[in-house]
Amino acid sequence: MRRKLIKSLSYVLTVNGSLLGIACSCGLLAATQFLLLDSEKRELEAQTNSAFDYASAVSVNMKNSLTEASQLTFPRCSDEDLAALRSALWQNDFVKDLGRVVDGNILCTAGWGVLKQPVALPQPPSFANNGYSHWRGINGLIAASVAGEISVFQDTVSFTSPFAFQRLRIPNAYTGFLITGADINNVYRIVGDIPDNARIEKDLDGSFSLTTNILSISRCSNDPALCVTGVKSHVGLANYSWPFIAAIASAGIFLGAGLYLLAFFMLSGKLVMYRRLRKAVRSKTLFMVYQPQYELNTGKLVGVEALVRWHDVRLGFVPPDVFIPIAEEIGLIQELTEVVVETSFSEMQGLLTLYADLGLSINLSMENLVSPLFLGFINDLSKQYELNPNQLTFEVTERSAAGDDKMAESARQFAAHSYKISLDDFGTGYSNLSWLSQLDADEIKVDRIFTQAIGTSSINQNMLTAIFQLVRALGVQLVFEGIESQHEVDYILKHSTDAIGQGWLFSKPVSIEVLKGLIEKNRADQAMK
Ligand code: C2E
Ligand code: MG
Ligand code: MG
Repeated sequence: MRRKLIKSLSYVLTVNGSLLGIACSCGLLAATQFLLLDSEKRELEAQTNSAFDYASAVSVNMKNSLTEASQLTFPRCSDEDLAALRSALWQNDFVKDLGRVVDGNILCTAGWGVLKQPVALPQPPSFANNGYSHWRGINGLIAASVAGEISVFQDTVSFTSPFAFQRLRIPNAYTGFLITGADINNVYRIVGDIPDNARIEKDLDGSFSLTTNILSISRCSNDPALCVTGVKSHVGLANYSWPFIAAIASAGIFLGAGLYLLAFFMLSGKLVMYRRLRKAVRSKTLFMVYQPQYELNTGKLVGVEALVRWHDVRLGFVPPDVFIPIAEEIGLIQELTEVVVETSFSEMQGLLTLYADLGLSINLSMENLVSPLFLGFINDLSKQYELNPNQLTFEVTERSAAGDDKMAESARQFAAHSYKISLDDFGTGYSNLSWLSQLDADEIKVDRIFTQAIGTSSINQNMLTAIFQLVRALGVQLVFEGIESQHEVDYILKHSTDAIGQGWLFSKPVSIEVLKGLIEKNRADQAMK
């Protein structure tokens, strides 16, 4: 049976852990790809911008030289004309040569003078726009060494230097720039390496194609009509080696499987606690300790607060701050409080009967206070143990939300049966002023964060002054919890002579046997005074 359970548990752990591992692995790869692409996109954008500025300078050079040369008025190819073309060349360093064209034939250039034979321009041009015709990839025209691009405007021809883009920095082997007219098919020049399949992309602007693994970004202007498209292949994870990708995938698998196991064991840990707490409540193995409360000005022990304890054989000591909220969460708080009330009544019966001026305070959860059956339970039990309701105080803290009206009505019913209501942890988020106005409490227990603020310059110390004033106006009993030093007592007494105090300075919570001894001694000391 146990073996079968272990087998099916390990099956569930393996399957679910692996599934979450695979999901995390995919997620991590997708996230890495996204981050890499994002940073590469920004990098390519910056590179394309500087390539555009460069290409723009080349294009403006070419246009300016053509405009200037075509406006010259000398007879075409005369000595004056050629001299003026040479001067124009001096001002435009990306233009290698300027010449004159008639009927599609180059007749002369600044560099070569009047040609022996007119040289025909290949027809048709690579492309034409705005009155300019362009030829790209020209080689060996006029002379074997003439290469590059040619542009013609009216009767003037310009030869862009083949070295014009030499100073344009190509960032890496996988990046290239496509320098085109407004139409991306009208290519002036390709700088760097652009994979063939990049050119078939229709919209190159800011696009990323997963199939071709190509990232491209365009920047265009109208005048000059120019577009520069930065193209980068091998982007994202494709740029990295398989071991690197496998390492990320494995990290994702470990992360997912680890998270699953952690969640599983945390949850199963919580489930174990649920089960064991339920068992502890039902088998009544919880036990009570009592912390004495003293009149600060006389030192007389006038009450005790019952505090529940849970020591589990497997979990060890679990503090009430931990298991009370769990009991509330799993609907076990009524049962737990009934155990607490019954145990405290039975253990304290002797002392409460013996000392009529001794009080017992029991902590309630909000569900207890507003439960229609709980007051009946308390009444029956106090009758059974012959306890005087005047000696019983119920401390409430708002951990769970209950309607204010319902709460106030429940508190009134407790008061109608002569029980006292104490507002526990006063001053914290749980127990506040709006509560005080609703609840008509007999007692306020100032939370220990305020007691511990005494003598400091914190905001809580300032709050104390306000609390003293408030309590004086309301005429309720003031109880300070968490008193650990005499100077705290002195300070409290200075502001409130009839305050009650509870804390380690006097006693830690103790068992009923120890408590009996403490009371006897205290009463004897009081009698001696
Ligand atoms: P609480 O009702 O405000 O109880 C006072 C807490 O302060 C107790 O912790 C007590 O041991 C501790 N304390 C007392 N004097 C000092 C001191 O001088 N210095 C310091 N640092 N601490 C001091 P404990 O027993 O761990 O209880 C914690 C909380 O658990 C209680 O706060 C109460 O809200 C809840 N609780 C305890 N027993 C019960 C119970 O039977 N039923 C319900 N519903 N809640 C309980
Ligand atoms: Mg309390
Ligand atoms: Mg408290």
